[in-house]
Amino acid sequence: MYISDFNYHKPKTLKEALELLHKSDNGAPIAGGTDMLVELKQGLRQHQDIISLTNIEELKVINEDPDQLYIGAGTTHSEIIASDLIKKIYPVIAEAASKVGTAQIRNTGTLGGNLCTGSSCCDTAPVLIALGAGVEIANGSQLKIIPLKDFFIHNKQTMIKKGDIMTRIIVPKQASCVGAHYEKFGLREAASISVVSVAVMVQLKNNIINDACIVIGAVAPTAIISQRSTNVVKGKNVSELTENSTLLKRAGKAAAEDSVPIDDIRAGAQYRRDILNVLTQRAILRAIEKAESKCKN
Ligand SMILES: Cc1cc2nc3c(=O)[nH]c(=O)nc-3n(C[C@H](O)[C@H](O)[C@H](O)COP(=O)(O)OP(=O)(O)OC[C@H]3O[C@@H](n4cnc5c(N)ncnc54)[C@H](O)[C@@H]3O)c2cc1C
Repeated sequence: MYISDFNYHKPKTLKEALELLHKSDNGAPIAGGTDMLVELKQGLRQHQDIISLTNIEELKVINEDPDQLYIGAGTTHSEIIASDLIKKIYPVIAEAASKVGTAQIRNTGTLGGNLCTGSSCCDTAPVLIALGAGVEIANGSQLKIIPLKDFFIHNKQTMIKKGDIMTRIIVPKQASCVGAHYEKFGLREAASISVVSVAVMVQLKNNIINDACIVIGAVAPTAIISQRSTNVVKGKNVSELTENSTLLKRAGKAAAEDSVPIDDIRAGAQYRRDILNVLTQRAILRAIEKAESKCKN
């Protein structure tokens, strides 16, 4: 299918991009285009104006202050993987980015685009939700921050409104002894979208799981916090959460109970629940290992 005609804009500043969006009746931002071009080519969407974000340097900054890590929405997955700052503070974000598509997709696709597409199988959302991230959104001169856990409404539906540009992803720095892990199951090792995914964050205090968040992906219309599974591990001693332990199995089962998977060409709903059960247990063990190694350092 041919893409219908549109005006292509390539502003150099965020202000200019916001003005262009504001002036257009039906304009949309484009970052790497790895999601949007597919939809345009399939005729699923049409825009009078397409505003490229790729020349806007302020959307590509990765920095920190004492309390938070900031990742520009225009940062590509490859830039995230290569960032020493991200690897130092939250290597799990780089690990999740490394699971997206292929090298070509990671070189082009951005974190902002991954979140704004709002796909239920998005690879970066589970980890960022588990870490308590928020997203900063600009519209005209207004700036707001939305917790990422509230950003997704349904598959491919987010809180992004007309004229909005996501500017940064803000990740709070956690207390010490935090470990986080992401597990993805696809039909192949490479270039495969998630059939099931899970992200686990645990924070330890004297061997007790003082805080935790377990987020399940691709098994509901959006990535969601599995409250039941989180509740199973919170407050428990890590010695109770060993491989094949009753408690670990309960946590895996609880995550599966919180899921609402679909049957589709990639997997049946029950198969997804079974895989989620296993992946959740694995991710909890790995997150605890990572937290323990941080506590020692
Ligand atoms: C072959 C292939 C494999 C893939 N594999 C994976 C995978 O394994 N895991 C995965 O999670 N995804 C995968 N994807 C999807 C896609 O590559 C990612 O979601 C990517 O991060 C999208 O980023 P982008 O910059 O290309 O977004 P774009 O296509 O440029 O934009 C996507 C949407 O977000 C909006 N948007 C972009 N940036 C902003 C912004 N800053 N503010 C407001 N709105 C914005 C656009 O208007 C559009 O609606 C794959 C895609 C392909 C084609």
